[in-house]
Amino acid sequence: MSATALNTPPSSRPIVVTHGGAGADARDRDGCAAAANAGMQSLRDGSGALQAAVAAVRVLEDDPRFNAGTGSVLRMDGVTVEMDAAVMDSQGRLGAVAGLRRVRHPVQVAAAVADTPHWLLCGEGALRFARHIGAGDHDPVTPQALRKHQSMLEKLRRGERLVHGEDNASFAQHWNYPTPLAVAPGQACDTVGAVVRDAGGHYAVAGSTGGCAPALLGRVGDTPIIGAGFYAGPAGAVAVTGIGEHIVRHLLAHTVHGWMADGMPLDDALRRALTLFDPAIDIGLIAVNASDSGACSNRDMPWAAAEGAQ
Ligand code: ASP
Repeated sequence: MSATALNTPPSSRPIVVTHGGAGADARDRDGCAAAANAGMQSLRDGSGALQAAVAAVRVLEDDPRFNAGTGSVLRMDGVTVEMDAAVMDSQGRLGAVAGLRRVRHPVQVAAAVADTPHWLLCGEGALRFARHIGAGDHDPVTPQALRKHQSMLEKLRRGERLVHGEDNASFAQHWNYPTPLAVAPGQACDTVGAVVRDAGGHYAVAGSTGGCAPALLGRVGDTPIIGAGFYAGPAGAVAVTGIGEHIVRHLLAHTVHGWMADGMPLDDALRRALTLFDPAIDIGLIAVNASDSGACSNRDMPWAAAEGAQ
């Protein structure tokens, strides 16, 4: 898909839209469809928009084809996985985690943070909180992630430039892992996300990612940053995927929400978002508002929608 907005037909029925990351394999759409259906089932079971978004993202976190939860990319040391996740709804609920390790469903931990006095927990505090709410120890490293890591090392050995606008050497120069310098792997991103409109007209968004590689230890992208990787408000919900370092500079999710609040059609708002970026940068979005829903990316991006009865 290239700079294309794909909309579901206009409707105000409940809807769940999911994505598997800008630059991910579009053939993995079935995983997004399973997640959207899980979110829709959650709505049918009486959940609100936020719980439905979490239900959808949990399915994507369990699918090893996507870079979130199980299947997250390895960091540059080839061992560490650090995950980010967030949730928000149009009724003011907000929670996020950053740099979270060894948890199966980071999005569930993010949702639990929304019940604390805070909105974002990171690193060791996030992990201790996860254990406190009963999230057990889970190794998210998969054989696929290890293979991907190896193929990235190969790319680096071939001297490919790995991050748009960045010299590969800068990762070695700023190396902050406790282990000795490893060969920097190639670029791998992707995030999963869901946006929901429930029967009451409330909106919610949830997102989860293993982040980008190469990245220094402790790197956090846009996924757990309100207004950048996600936003839900009175005009709808928006989830963003792509290179976080660029997305945060445009506060992209909030910007798109603002355009919709000003009356711009959802389709136009998604297309306009892509024009803010150099085409070399992966960007993708999904959104829902009062009448529409859709997805847009300048790369292949698996996504799906499930719509309920009025
Ligand atoms: N936005 C994510 C990050 O920068 C990665 C992605 O969506 O592909 O961590």
